[in-house]
Amino acid sequence: MSLEAYGVETPDVVREPADDRHDTDLKACPECGTVVGEPNTLKLDAPDVVDDVEIDTLVTRARKCDRHAYDVLLPVRVRRGAPSLGRSWTTVRVRLADQRVRPVAVPKSQVTRQ
Ligand SMILES: [Zn+2]
Repeated sequence: MSLEAYGVETPDVVREPADDRHDTDLKACPECGTVVGEPNTLKLDAPDVVDDVEIDTLVTRARKCDRHAYDVLLPVRVRRGAPSLGRSWTTVRVRLADQRVRPVAVPKSQVTRQ
């Protein structure tokens, strides 16, 4: 049962995907080792954005592990500006659960630079 059933709002845990031990083409959840499949377009709740930007909703390309009481979201690794995702995407820097700051892809239409 998820904590939300008790009215507790748990922020998403945002982490870098781990490489699967057996097949480096697969990505795994760094918390439990489960293979997490292909990325989807997902919303991050209350991300720790360190850039000075306004974002209505941080939508990104990410995998999700749902074997936890909270959502573990694993944004795809991108370079700054997310050139691999095409021209409608950019990046903002987000502090992940391990305290490292990484670029996270976000549609350009969602971001207002200050
Ligand atoms: Zn997991």
